[in-house]
Amino acid sequence: MSKMSSIEKEKINDHSIDRFSNSMVAASTVTCLLHLSLIAFYLTYEVPEMVIYNICGLSLFLVLRILFKNKWIKIPFILGSIDVITGIIMADYFIGWASNFNIYLLLLPASLLIYTGWKIWEIALFFIAILGIYLSSLELLLDFPGVYDIDRQILKYLSFANSTTAVAILIVILRYFNASILKMQEHLENKNKELKNNTALLDSSLKKEKHASEMKSHFVSVTSHQFRTPLAIIQSNSQLINMILVKSDSPLKDKIEPSTLRINKEIKRMTELMDDVLLQGKITSGTIEFEQSNVNIHDLIKKIVNQYNELQEDKRTVTIEITGQIKELYVDIKMIQHAISNLISNALKYSEKKNPEVIIEFAENVVVIMVQDYGIGIPKTEIKNLFQPFYRALNVQSIQGTGLGLSIAKDYIELNGGTIEVESEINVGTQFIITLPI
Ligand code: ADP
Repeated sequence: MSKMSSIEKEKINDHSIDRFSNSMVAASTVTCLLHLSLIAFYLTYEVPEMVIYNICGLSLFLVLRILFKNKWIKIPFILGSIDVITGIIMADYFIGWASNFNIYLLLLPASLLIYTGWKIWEIALFFIAILGIYLSSLELLLDFPGVYDIDRQILKYLSFANSTTAVAILIVILRYFNASILKMQEHLENKNKELKNNTALLDSSLKKEKHASEMKSHFVSVTSHQFRTPLAIIQSNSQLINMILVKSDSPLKDKIEPSTLRINKEIKRMTELMDDVLLQGKITSGTIEFEQSNVNIHDLIKKIVNQYNELQEDKRTVTIEITGQIKELYVDIKMIQHAISNLISNALKYSEKKNPEVIIEFAENVVVIMVQDYGIGIPKTEIKNLFQPFYRALNVQSIQGTGLGLSIAKDYIELNGGTIEVESEINVGTQFIITLPI
């Protein structure tokens, strides 16, 4: 059978508590009537203490019903029980043990049985308290004849009336209990059917989703491979045009050369985009190759930084700072290289004047790599979306990019057991923090 959600369980619990409240309403109505008839009885037989007690008991019951209604039934339940026990003790005291009021003690455990809201230890504690009160009154009053001498015939009727009402109250409670169980069962069966239907629906939509995702991956992979051939032809032809122009004295040479350079640049951009889309697809479908080895992360970062420093047109350089004892990492070198390269390239791309920095901190079990720049920063509200594929912040719309680099970097770092975080302030700078296990 499928597992029931906590919401379902709560609903069923609420349902049974509602049912319990209904039975409590019925039981307390009977109790009120009982109090009223007892007031009449004691008025007739002039037992003022019991008249006062019954008036108080009745008022208490009515106040409790108004105060707590169905809100929190524990308190009226406890006070109701105290009411019943006091009634028993007083009846024993005034009329004597033979009053048969003790039959009401049956009501308490019976009501407790249908109250599903209490924990086992609460029920146990409650029972022990009742039993304690009852046994002490038994010890005190067992040989006590009662302070009022009531006619034996009347006592007989009184006992009969007590037992009948107690049984009536019990029957009312049990009837509600039974009805509530049946309703709950029906409710559960319906929910079960609903759950089965939903599971079947979910299964079929999962299959469809999987199929669609496979189709998408296949489509992306085929189209990007298909794109490569014409792109390669365009690139080689533009290079050929360049070579011919270099050798010729054509007056068009100066005009055509920038165009061929632009063609080559755009082809490079498109190839990179297709590579990233392909990579993203592989990561999503779980088909990415993963090969770990011992890597000296300091050497790797130095190599990446040197490559960027050599190519940087505005002559800015990325600096490296290192603290702690250098240790080797066991990671997929290509993935880590790809991730860090992307962060360094972004640090240069999204800043202008100051040099970006890479800070490497070796600790006991981890290495923390921080890539810091002093550039345009990222709007606070957009930080949470940065690692989603194709997401680009609003303040970079005039700068070229695909929005895929960070999402791939995050997946790569996480595949190697690490984490990546970002801290940024608009127009102050951005810091990406990678943490990798050693
Ligand atoms: P791309 O740089 O190609 O747009 P990325 O996935 O590398 O794609 O980055 C996603 C977005 O994160 C960028 O478009 C930019 O809005 C923001 N971003 C990343 N790095 C920085 C940075 N160092 N400074 C400011 N914004 C950044």
